[in-house]
Amino acid sequence: MWEASQDDLFGAGGAGAGAATPSRRAGQRSMTAELTSDDLEVDRTLRPRTLDDYCGQERVRENLRVLIQAACDRNEPLDHVIFSGPPGLGKTTLAGVVANEMGATLHTTSGPAIERTGDLAAILTNLGEGDILFVDEIHRLNHQVEEVLYPAMEDFFLDIVIGKGPAARSIRLDIPRFTLVGATTRTGLLTGPLRDRFGISYRLDYYSTEELTRIVVRSAAILGVEIDAQGAAEVASRSRGTPRLANRLLKRVRDYAQVRAGGGISWQVAAEALSFFEIDELGLDWMDVKILDALVRTFRGRPVGLSTVASAVGEDPSTLEDVYEPYLLQQGLIIRTPQGRQATSAAFEHLGIVPPAHG
Ligand code: ADP
Repeated sequence: MWEASQDDLFGAGGAGAGAATPSRRAGQRSMTAELTSDDLEVDRTLRPRTLDDYCGQERVRENLRVLIQAACDRNEPLDHVIFSGPPGLGKTTLAGVVANEMGATLHTTSGPAIERTGDLAAILTNLGEGDILFVDEIHRLNHQVEEVLYPAMEDFFLDIVIGKGPAARSIRLDIPRFTLVGATTRTGLLTGPLRDRFGISYRLDYYSTEELTRIVVRSAAILGVEIDAQGAAEVASRSRGTPRLANRLLKRVRDYAQVRAGGGISWQVAAEALSFFEIDELGLDWMDVKILDALVRTFRGRPVGLSTVASAVGEDPSTLEDVYEPYLLQQGLIIRTPQGRQATSAAFEHLGIVPPAHG
């Protein structure tokens, strides 16, 4: 039910260093954590299936272990769960892990895919006792669908209206006791009543480099790629704290190693490959660097309006704001001021430029 965008940087492949690298020629981007078509196949093979295989997020993992065990011992379905956090951190993976650990059947859909109340009724009436329904992007459910979902979550029934006008009548349908697992990148957009109906709620954090290193080592073993500890740590450190990006970079480094370095991935091969694909030590790609470069060199560290930055780098303002800025802000490379976007001294340092003394 996902819509995989064609946004993946490395799809074009091929040789060619210098001005027009594969990524630039294709005008695509590597370091956004949204799901791309290329990820779908990788995601399927690399997704952990058990809590033991799921790396990091210790608190969430240990909590879930207890709750799942308790529900299984009582022979009851798990309470409804919601996972929130940025894309690529493992929300969908956890839904699969929960189903697997509960020995339950997983059904997957997404907020935008459930357009009408009839769609939801069809999904719910097809569930079996104890099944898990995973709804990705649950903040995008429409209002009418949400209203039907409330009694389903709380008391496991549906009120369905049959017919129209004066002849319309409402019938009540019992549905099996199920567990709803919701995922959202935008907790702020969840309505209060929906949020209140989840008994269990977790926010996933960005991963540490050590955790990502373990993920890279695990993924390399599954893909049959030879990688040493330093090579794995190098890939991990440029992955923006995000497992999906770590797996994506590992695949690209594997391609490079196969063609240029005889297959194995050492620290040196990883570093060479990542600079070939223009991913720098902070995990910034060429577009991030172009934005920083405009703020640092062209505008000399002064605040500039969003649309001015956007035209300086040839990008759409809303894309700049939604896709590129969050990580630059999170890394403290830029700040938002009432006057506009501004490069910080960390950005100057990152580009190796001395900040001007103005004030
Ligand atoms: P989200 O639903 O939050 O966007 P996903 O669950 O689809 O993220 O995770 C993206 C990919 O990252 C998965 O295919 C999986 O291989 C990997 N991944 C995510 N979290 C972990 C983890 N904790 N341990 C190992 N791999 C992970």
